[in-house]
Amino acid sequence: MVSHDLIVIGSGPGGYSAAIRAGQYGLKTALIEKFPKLGGTCLHVGCIPTKALLHTAEVWDYFQHSAEQGIHCENPRLDLPGVLKRKTGIVDKHAKGIEFLMKKNKVETVAGFGTLKGKGRVEVQTATGTRMLEGRHIIVASGSEARMLPGLEADPERILTNVEILEMKQVPARLAVIGAGAVGVEFASIFARFGSKVTVLEMLPRLVPVEDEDVSKELERSFKKQGIACETGARVEKVEKTARGVRLTVTLKTGKQETIEAEKLLVAVGRKPNTDKIGLENTRAETDGGFLKVNEYQQTGEPGLYAIGDVVAGTPQLAHVATMEGMVAVAHMAGKPWRPVNKNRIPGATYTEPGIGSVGLTEAQAREKGYKVKVGKFPFLGNSKATILGSHDGFVKVVADEKYGEILGVHIIGPHAYELIAEAVAAMEAEATVETMIATIHAHPTLYEAVGEAFNAVYGQAIHA
Ligand code: NAD
Repeated sequence: MVSHDLIVIGSGPGGYSAAIRAGQYGLKTALIEKFPKLGGTCLHVGCIPTKALLHTAEVWDYFQHSAEQGIHCENPRLDLPGVLKRKTGIVDKHAKGIEFLMKKNKVETVAGFGTLKGKGRVEVQTATGTRMLEGRHIIVASGSEARMLPGLEADPERILTNVEILEMKQVPARLAVIGAGAVGVEFASIFARFGSKVTVLEMLPRLVPVEDEDVSKELERSFKKQGIACETGARVEKVEKTARGVRLTVTLKTGKQETIEAEKLLVAVGRKPNTDKIGLENTRAETDGGFLKVNEYQQTGEPGLYAIGDVVAGTPQLAHVATMEGMVAVAHMAGKPWRPVNKNRIPGATYTEPGIGSVGLTEAQAREKGYKVKVGKFPFLGNSKATILGSHDGFVKVVADEKYGEILGVHIIGPHAYELIAEAVAAMEAEATVETMIATIHAHPTLYEAVGEAFNAVYGQAIHA
């Protein structure tokens, strides 16, 4: 017998937001979660705790350089357990907030591991036994977990993933990071500011390889200036545990082999979807490398079964993508009008120092697609608010189509870049042209004036450059 209109497996930002929206639509909804608290990777061991630490790193950095502001601090001290306590407080507050929202929207939460049994049924392994739910619709939002390098296993002492690194008792003297995607560069940025000597090893030719090439170059330049060693085009040949940490044998891009010793190693080489134990074999859903194949409305090949977030093939593993895919899926099953996710309008936000915010095509991608590209670039050096903040690294880069002034992509690296990108995302969503953005009044003095200037720079008319 059908017990629910919708059963959601997984309570990350994708799953819990979908459950709330279903509640708002009046659907009888159950949300299954195996972890004792709601919120998923993003809230407990991902976005939120990491950004809490990044904020503390920024505050700590202000203390380190306070004399520049005419403020003298005698012997400031970083108390990592205190920092982690604050981080945990933020996480717990939000986990309670999600619980409240479930009650408010009449979503039933079911604690346990959910397995698809086919024909709309989900078996939940709870602490006290099994329970069978039956739904008209199901959303798989079971997320992902850190990938490990072959032969390595995470442990809390030396070889860490995004999970273990959040609970270190002391700032390590030396931290090695394998992988320069968002996870790798964000933790490098945190611990370098906390005082670790950090080495980032990336096998591809540049840091943050999904970003525009100029952004990668600027991040590497700035990281090196901050004392972070960056080895791109590097191959990790061997990882050994030693009495004091780890020893890595690495072939550098020059062909030279080097040994790197560190107290801790962070492995940040991507995430694998949590799809192998959820009973997909009982459905007609198809996978590609473990990721679920879906159509534009997030439907899998099994009638009534949708998938959203990190388990889905073809979209980036980002919390905000999961959330929007959830909105699409729930609107579709409820017969409400909604547009599918536009993959070209997904903001990227990386919270390093300097930060990164981006949307749309990189310059290289735009050229590859055959556009006649015009680029406008404006450095934060010419922005007065950046001077006030003492953050001059970086720039705003607009990639536009020469013919109609269509905005193809915007790439920002610099102070609060991950916030500044909002204007570009909204502009692209509203199909604004470069001309519209040039005519848009930008308040003075603000960081986002730099965005306005970059649009002007497309026609060589930035005022402060
Ligand atoms: P990722 O896929 O973004 O980056 C992994 C990096 O590791 C890649 O650059 C890859 O080339 C490199 N790599 C892989 N194997 C390697 C090896 N053997 N040696 C050296 N380098 C190697 O993965 P991630 O950084 O682990 O992040 C996982 C997911 O979570 C991504 O989708 C990411 O976008 C997302 N995330 C986003 C944010 C954010 O938006 N701020 C923060 C954290 C994570």
